[in-house]
Amino acid sequence: MDSDPVADALTSVLDDLRDQDDGELAAENAVDAPESDLFALVLVGPFGDVHAAGDADHRFTVQSISKAFAFALALQSHGRDAVFERVGLEPTGEPFHAISVEPETGRPANPMINAGAITTTSMAPGGDADAKVDALLSFMSRCAGRDLAVDEDVAAAESESSDRNRGLAYVLASHGALACPVDVALDAYFRQCAVRVDARDVATMAATLAFGGRNPVTGEQVMDAAVARDAVSVMASCGMYDASGEWAARVGLPAKSGVSGGITAVDPSEFGVAAFSPRLDAVGNSTRGVRALEELSHRFGLHMFADRPETSAPLVNLEHEDDRTVVRLQGHIGFGTAVQVAHRMREEAREGRAVALDMSDADRLDDACGTILRRVAEELYAEISD
Ligand code: GLU
Repeated sequence: MDSDPVADALTSVLDDLRDQDDGELAAENAVDAPESDLFALVLVGPFGDVHAAGDADHRFTVQSISKAFAFALALQSHGRDAVFERVGLEPTGEPFHAISVEPETGRPANPMINAGAITTTSMAPGGDADAKVDALLSFMSRCAGRDLAVDEDVAAAESESSDRNRGLAYVLASHGALACPVDVALDAYFRQCAVRVDARDVATMAATLAFGGRNPVTGEQVMDAAVARDAVSVMASCGMYDASGEWAARVGLPAKSGVSGGITAVDPSEFGVAAFSPRLDAVGNSTRGVRALEELSHRFGLHMFADRPETSAPLVNLEHEDDRTVVRLQGHIGFGTAVQVAHRMREEAREGRAVALDMSDADRLDDACGTILRRVAEELYAEISD
């Protein structure tokens, strides 16, 4: 077998943190994953390359990670306006099962807490709970790249013990927030939380969000790029329970966690990653999962708000031919690059040189950025080829 240096790097993170086994198991795990020492880290890259370390094949119930996907399915099925009419996008600072209802609108604060998730689940296509669960399962399965299934025992146990979620759902219904009867929404919600996954599935689901809704393993476009972007945006502000702000500073990757110990995290256009370890910290995030992703982010410089030199040093080639400068662009030309290239072109012109711009090898040139560069080239009376 070929060696996999990425998997080796993940294994070394697990090995360094393995003895940090503090935290408590969630009630959901008493039925589900009593093996509290399990620890996995899986990363899925742009070519559908899967890099797995630790207990990557252990199955656990997806729990609240499903909330990101129920939100995405609601957006994909009904569009932004209809979804944002029923659920907000603001972090709460309250516990995940808070009775969250905005006074003026009757909307729950965001789709990553229970109130918001019961609402987005109520919007899943289908007239009854079975149909809604089928739609959610099929959507999550396409994101994971394999047929997932519900652990009906876990769903039934939760349904029997969940007065809190029941109470929440009735409050939501009284505000007109739900798109279906309370029992249907709750049944679908409990079963959606009880979908069985492993860390590979969760990493692939994250990668589908990271690559604009296209599952890089199967190549299927599962949702629109704008839907994936909305899901990732809400994960960035609300995905890690009451530690979302601290997570943003320490780890800096949009993420969603669940009480069975899974965490899914996204680096847009780069990879999806999953951590799994069942013991939870005081806010309900996997203790070792948080540490593993923080360590990964630190070792590989993954923080989304850190300076990314590769982005500010794009492939721009200046060739001097007699008194002419040819500016050749390659790769992805985003706004920052366009601004820099425009600056360089003006400098060349100031030195008395004619400037030609060749954009024929720029593979992703946004219209707005192309317009900036064309305008500069035209001002400089240069020839343009694109
Ligand atoms: N089944 C759980 C519940 O509602 C999901 C909890 C979680 O993962 O946050 O309440």
